[in-house]
Amino acid sequence: MKIFNLDNELRPHIKNIKPYSSARHEFNGTAGIFLDANENSYPGLFNRYPDPDQKELKEIISRIKKIPAEHLFLGNGSDEAIDLLVRAFCEPGKDHLITTPPTYGMYKVVASINNVLNKEVFLRPDFSLPVNDILQQITDESKIIFICSPNNPTGNSFPTEEVMKIITESGKLVVVDEAYIDFASQKSLAELRDFPNLVVLQTLSKAYGMAGLRIGIAVGSPEIIKVLNGIKPPYNISSASISAAIQTLINIQDTETHITEIVNERKYLETELSKLGFVKKIFRSDANFLLVRVDDARGCYTFLKNNSIIVRDRSAEVHCDGCLRITVGTPEENQTLIQTLKKFKS
Ligand SMILES: *Cc1c(COP(=O)(O)O)cnc(C)c1O
Repeated sequence: MKIFNLDNELRPHIKNIKPYSSARHEFNGTAGIFLDANENSYPGLFNRYPDPDQKELKEIISRIKKIPAEHLFLGNGSDEAIDLLVRAFCEPGKDHLITTPPTYGMYKVVASINNVLNKEVFLRPDFSLPVNDILQQITDESKIIFICSPNNPTGNSFPTEEVMKIITESGKLVVVDEAYIDFASQKSLAELRDFPNLVVLQTLSKAYGMAGLRIGIAVGSPEIIKVLNGIKPPYNISSASISAAIQTLINIQDTETHITEIVNERKYLETELSKLGFVKKIFRSDANFLLVRVDDARGCYTFLKNNSIIVRDRSAEVHCDGCLRITVGTPEENQTLIQTLKKFKS
């Protein structure tokens, strides 16, 4: 087990940063006359700045996920959390992060925006995690290891013991992206939130049905959460998003029903797709999509597009030749997809 010392890992200037203190940070009571933030005091739906700490929304998420609020950071999508983590830990032109393609494209994009090297250690052709290769690639300049589980676009989860091995033996910050965890048979690693070198990313964009609101969740030690809160834009989540998310989360029952239905529909799609002659392989999925290898990926993609069905062509990704990624839709949408595919001749 390698020791992780947050102070040694953070970029030196981030360690000493004094966060911007907004009017709403300095006074956040509810009653009174607010003449502190240069808002327009005439009543309006959104005339006030939002709560920079998103306390009410965090409390609801905390209750649903059974995670104390001091372990939660909310970002403008998980993408904001990814960017803040890279900016907090990686010195541009010097440090690097480690990713395991084929995987979520944002890690690489955020790395290049920040002039941080993205060291790629490919998954094996069966999409399993090359744990020892990853550990061997680690140098002093490695700052963050991104593990996406269930992985996008392959759909598989990695065994907990393997991810644990990376967390305990790397001595580096490990970010486990669990955007699809609600569809998985595997348990979340958010329980390990007291590990000093683990951040778990979740989102309201997938299972919770709020992609349009842009709310991502980072779960970690209170120390890391404090770092993220200290460098985020003070009002990173809008009042409209906060209140819409609260309203939606109050009806959590609907979300649970939808998740069950999506998992059932994933099975339906698997069964029906496997009957099609041009489908070569359907990869096991723990997410709300299927990665499917077909005879003529481009032809199939175009055929579907011409029939107003848009899927994602992932055939250019490493180990994904001939693969399309298909999101599980509503029962009607899935039936239409299958009916349409039955007419495709590769
Ligand atoms: C969709 C997705 C996200 C979600 O990003 P948001 O910015 O929260 O919408 C994060 N990680 C992965 C792997 C995803 O596929």
